[in-house]
Amino acid sequence: MGFGGAEAGARTLDAADPGHRHLFLVPPAEGGRHPEVAYLAGNSLGLQPRATREELLADLDAWRRLGVEGHLEAERPWLPYHELLTAPAARLVGARPAETVVMNSLTVNLHLLMVSFYRPSGERTRIVIEDSAFPSDSYAVRSQACFHGLDPDTAVVRLKPRPGEDTLRTQDVLDFLAAEGHTVALLLLGGVNYLTGELMDIPAITAAGRAAGAVVGWDLAHAAGNVPLSLHDWDVDFAAWCSYKYLNSGPGALAGVFVHERHLGEEDLPRFEGWWSTEAATRFEMTPVSRPPATVEAWQISNPPIFAMGPVRTSLELFDAVGMPALRERSLRLTGYLERLLDEVTADRPLTVITPRDPERRGCQLSVRIGAGSAGELTKRLRHEHGVIADAREPDVVRFAPVPLYSTYHDCWRVADALAATVPVSARSEPGSRAPQSRTEGGHTS
Ligand SMILES: *Cc1c(COP(=O)(O)O)cnc(C)c1O
Repeated sequence: MGFGGAEAGARTLDAADPGHRHLFLVPPAEGGRHPEVAYLAGNSLGLQPRATREELLADLDAWRRLGVEGHLEAERPWLPYHELLTAPAARLVGARPAETVVMNSLTVNLHLLMVSFYRPSGERTRIVIEDSAFPSDSYAVRSQACFHGLDPDTAVVRLKPRPGEDTLRTQDVLDFLAAEGHTVALLLLGGVNYLTGELMDIPAITAAGRAAGAVVGWDLAHAAGNVPLSLHDWDVDFAAWCSYKYLNSGPGALAGVFVHERHLGEEDLPRFEGWWSTEAATRFEMTPVSRPPATVEAWQISNPPIFAMGPVRTSLELFDAVGMPALRERSLRLTGYLERLLDEVTADRPLTVITPRDPERRGCQLSVRIGAGSAGELTKRLRHEHGVIADAREPDVVRFAPVPLYSTYHDCWRVADALAATVPVSARSEPGSRAPQSRTEGGHTS
């Protein structure tokens, strides 16, 4: 099956619904008929906004011109620089400014938050994650259990989908909490699962977890900038996210943290401290004992890397200007379009979309399980033969994320056209012939 007929349709949709691609730098293709790659890997590393370079150079220039005086005299003074990121980050995740700060990297922040919010005691000792949690999260929670002298194999509970299913049912999470919630110290799930693209019902699960007496935290690495969030209103205890995926702030970019207002200023909450944990007004009195503010800034430790803050600031300004509601609208149109094309291409090929079909249960990413060959090999061919950049999770999942800020309908068309050309039409392989459990048994560590 070719998709030549649909290409003109994709162009028409792009003309009517252009998005903000002009604000981004799209990598060139290696040759062939398209000048740029079809970039579907924004769930892994977002593209560079055009504005980033100049803003970064301006910060660098302030250092050249002012040396140490830049702390107070730079156009964007370094001492309070992080405050420039707070309000837009708060708007992005539906938080109050006092609840949000940009600092460190994601897994570091998860650890700092667990210092405060994972406090096993009595029979309430367990940490609940999803079985298909991102490996870093799994390692982090296991090491936290060890840190408290617990056996991670029993302290960490991994929620699995039902046999033969790929994604977790909300009801199964709620049922687990109803039955075993009294043993749960911390529930820490991904808001959007990195592998399947499933969007969890964050408000319902948060409410159930808290009603069961557990602390509820969310890893929003694949949710921030992808789906609308209302962390404050949803009563989430804490959350953390990175900024290099949908937030387009560059490899290893500084990450975000949310702590709900009700925990701010709580005196008996353990926290690790440094000089950025103390209130700014008296920071330079150099007293031996800190005076942490009643904001999430009490979780900061070190003075932040200014040159890493510029790209996050630039990106957050862009999200602020466009707004998550408009982005989500375009995201639903774009991902719905890719889904329709994938329906055609997968119908007679050994390919299955494992992301939920309900748009309310997913962000922009669609994950495809391949029934033959390796995901890595397929992804290489898509790249080198068609200029389509997707992301492989071995052994058998390829992820495609049409990002509403910069992806196009034509990019989606190229995905379908490339898959049609690369994967031979076949009798479908029997469901289960590829050992579907392999996904949940440790194959995904990269
Ligand atoms: C991308 C991702 C990470 C990466 O962690 P870093 O600390 O940024 O290296 C962690 N958890 C999840 C769920 C992710 O998707």
